[in-house]
Amino acid sequence: MDERLRQELANWLEFYRELGIEEFYRRAPGAGGLSPATGERRIADSAPSGGAPPATATKPALTETKPVVGPTAPLPSPPVGASETAVVAAPIRPPAPSLSLFETPPPKPSGPETLEQIRADLGDCHRCKLAGGRKTIVFGEGNPHAELVFVGEGPGADEDEQGRPFVGRAGQLLNRMIQMIDMKREEVYICNVVKCRPPGNRTPEKDEIETCSPFLFRQLEAMKPRLICCLGAPAVRTVLGIKEGITKIHGQFYDFATSKALATVHPAYVLRNAREEKILREDFEKIREFLKGK
Ligand code: URA
Repeated sequence: MDERLRQELANWLEFYRELGIEEFYRRAPGAGGLSPATGERRIADSAPSGGAPPATATKPALTETKPVVGPTAPLPSPPVGASETAVVAAPIRPPAPSLSLFETPPPKPSGPETLEQIRADLGDCHRCKLAGGRKTIVFGEGNPHAELVFVGEGPGADEDEQGRPFVGRAGQLLNRMIQMIDMKREEVYICNVVKCRPPGNRTPEKDEIETCSPFLFRQLEAMKPRLICCLGAPAVRTVLGIKEGITKIHGQFYDFATSKALATVHPAYVLRNAREEKILREDFEKIREFLKGK
C-alpha cells in the first residue's frame, strides 16, 4: 500500500477509534455488496501497524481535490483599533488528511472533552522527534476552570526534570507577575505550545508545533478560559497566527474562539533583557483590569 494511502487509512481508523468505533469491514474484492458470511475482512486486521497517528479527530476531507482544514480553533480576529497593516496569519494547523476511501463524513464526537481525556489521549507520546530527547511530558498544570491560561513555548531543563511547566527561573518570574496582579499560581492554568523539551532549549520547529499544538487547542477548547496569555513569539504565532514582532502587538486583546487572547514577552526574554520587564508589568496590569471586568 502506498504511504499516502496508508496514512489516510490510519487517519480514518484513528478518527473512528476516538469515537469508540473499533471494528471496520470492507467488501471482498469483486463483491457487489457486503457479504458477511464470506467476504468480510477487518480493515484493521490488514492495516499496517506503526506510524504516528494524528493528534486530533480532525474531520477528513471528502474528496482529494478539496481538502478541508480541520476544526481545531477558529481564527483570531485582530484587535479593535489594530493597525490596518497588522499581519494576521492563520494559526499553525496540522495538515488535514485528504480522504478518498469513504463517501460519508464521520460523525463529530459529542460533548466537551476533559483535560484528563486529552492527557490520556496524548499517552506516552512519540508523535514527533522531540520524544527522543525528553525525560518527561509536560502537559500543563493548574486550575482546569481557570479564567486565565498562560501558553509558553516549551519545557526547559527544569520543566523536563519535574514534568511541570514554568518551574525554572522564567517560571519564578512568571510567578511574581501572577502575584503582582493579586492572583495565585494555583488559580491559573499554565501550559506550552509543545509538551516536550526541545534539545538545548531551541525554539520548537514547525513540524513539532504542528504535531503537538492540536493538544494545546483541545486544552484551550476544554477550558474555555476568559483570557489566554501568549508568552513569547512561538505561542503568539501558534495560537493567534500573528507573525509580527511581540514588541509591536503586545498588550492588545484578540478574539480566540470564545476567549480573548493577549500577547506579551516571554519571561525568559525579560531575564535576558531586564529593561523589557516594563512591558511584562504593563501587560499584566492589563490582564488584571480585564479580569476585573465581568
Ligand atoms: N519556558 C517555557 O516556554 N515554558 C516552560 O514551561 C518553561 C520555560
